[in-house]
Amino acid sequence: MTDIVVVGSLNVDVVVPLHELPAPGQTVLGAADHRRAGGGKGANQAVAAARLGRRVAMVGAVGIDADGDWLLGLIAAEGVATEAVLRAPRPTGQAIVLVTADGDSTIAVSSGANMWLAAEHLGPLRDLLGSARAVLLQQEVDAAVVAEAVRLAEGLVVLNPAPARPVDPATLARVDVLVPNRGELAALAGAPPTDAGVDGLAAMARSLGTRGPVVVTLGGDGALVVTTDRQWLIPAERVDAVDATGAGDTFCAALADALLDGAAIDEAARWASRAAAVTVTRPGAMEAAPRRVEVPTAA
Ligand code: ATP
Repeated sequence: MTDIVVVGSLNVDVVVPLHELPAPGQTVLGAADHRRAGGGKGANQAVAAARLGRRVAMVGAVGIDADGDWLLGLIAAEGVATEAVLRAPRPTGQAIVLVTADGDSTIAVSSGANMWLAAEHLGPLRDLLGSARAVLLQQEVDAAVVAEAVRLAEGLVVLNPAPARPVDPATLARVDVLVPNRGELAALAGAPPTDAGVDGLAAMARSLGTRGPVVVTLGGDGALVVTTDRQWLIPAERVDAVDATGAGDTFCAALADALLDGAAIDEAARWASRAAAVTVTRPGAMEAAPRRVEVPTAA
């Protein structure tokens, strides 16, 4: 049986190191060699869950191209089952990541095959989605795909609503655990970007109508767990931050992992925050996700 089915995006990230980011119309020569990495929030979360020891299957789409072959080989080598990743008559998703030594970055994404994936493609995957103990989703695929996957899921449904966009109320009502960051929470609540404090964020989270807890990730400020009648602020682990990319992806995967072990939501968020903190100490996103033995046990 599959523990976690991840429904989401798979991208090839082309990372270009620069001394400075180009202004519009400007050409800037790279500071060092570019590199290719596996990416897309879906693939990142799938690999993060597999590294924690979960049986993971990926649902998504890549192109009928060399990038698609490379990406499938990469995540399969991490132990992710790729049989339910479709091959699309569109190019594999690409993210061009321009990054300076200071950590400033500009990212352009061509969704390609990820946005080709349609709700109708999920029909044949009904058994996989229905039998998974958890289904983990993000929003780098079409909203109709997210809605259909949530409808077919019978296990725990965890939605990381990134990037920010509204989610239809019927889908939200079927989500067991919602994991937005601050901006995504505001977008879901139909509010402008917010610097609200803990109580304001909690009120916003409670207004959404999910049937379970909302875990708001706050970067270096930690995470806020909100249930109907309680809230916990989980402080971030103190680490030497190198690159926070992918921290949210590790957090979501680890949260689902702990919930499958029966952890209470606040305990699950503590585990997720320890796992995400490891990711922050390493460069890259997918490649920075920790294996289970690398996540410190609670103090
Ligand atoms: P991304 O989309 O880049 O993955 P995100 O916005 O979804 O990011 P964040 O809120 O930045 O996610 O981070 C997720 C979690 O990672 C935080 O809740 C926290 O537990 C941990 N984290 C992030 N930044 C740091 C940091 N500097 N130090 C320690 N932990 C961190």
